[in-house]
Amino acid sequence: MRRAGAVVADVLSKLQEIAEPGVTTAQLDHVALEMTARAGADALFKGVRSPQARKPFPGAICASVNDEVVHGIPSETTVLQAGDILSVDFGVRLGGYCGDSATTVAIGRVSPDRQRLMDATKGMLDVAIAEARPGVRWSQIAGKMQRYVEAAGFSVVRDFVGHGIGTKMHEDPKVPNFVSEELLADDIYLTEGMVLAVEPMVNAGSYHVRTLANGWTVVTKDGKCSAHFEHTIAIVRGGCEVLTRKEQG
Ligand code: MG
Ligand code: MG
Repeated sequence: MRRAGAVVADVLSKLQEIAEPGVTTAQLDHVALEMTARAGADALFKGVRSPQARKPFPGAICASVNDEVVHGIPSETTVLQAGDILSVDFGVRLGGYCGDSATTVAIGRVSPDRQRLMDATKGMLDVAIAEARPGVRWSQIAGKMQRYVEAAGFSVVRDFVGHGIGTKMHEDPKVPNFVSEELLADDIYLTEGMVLAVEPMVNAGSYHVRTLANGWTVVTKDGKCSAHFEHTIAIVRGGCEVLTRKEQG
């Protein structure tokens, strides 16, 4: 899973570097596919089916711009503009094991409000990484994440949650980014060896979302911006190891 995570980290780091005004999300998708093939890995999202969508997901990456929350389809007609925020979600399988990560990137200069939304969402993921260790209940972490981002004036998307990950991209348990009756009734204790994809999605306005007619792209109902950060983390003795973070230097 470290190896799969490293490929995901490399690809996302490259995409972050080349995502700039004038670039299309299809170009980013192309680079991701090439790098994945060169690493001997398989892109996880390409060809995934959804009950709501007639066609399987066509991209290697999900590229969601501004009010798009998740599952944006890479397109030759989506040209990035200065001031946009772009959420890129990407995953691979390598040697039978999966890695999954997402980041939101500023295209050119973005407004202070958009920057604050991105910072708060990344900060919310950092809260989870700081708190995750064996013996902690997930609801404790979810509560801290939720309070952190709501204190900044933003809202946590309810319709999508993080997940266990292993030989499959989506495994048990669900790891929501907010506390609900359902979570409290079915809480989990983190244990050594568990691997989770933690992925807060945060909206500038209300948390309500809707899915476009293509059956994939999820957008905010109020048209305000959304950000998404995700890491695959392994619970280890005394803390967690982030498997999808690019090593410095
Ligand atoms: Mg993901
Ligand atoms: Mg995920």
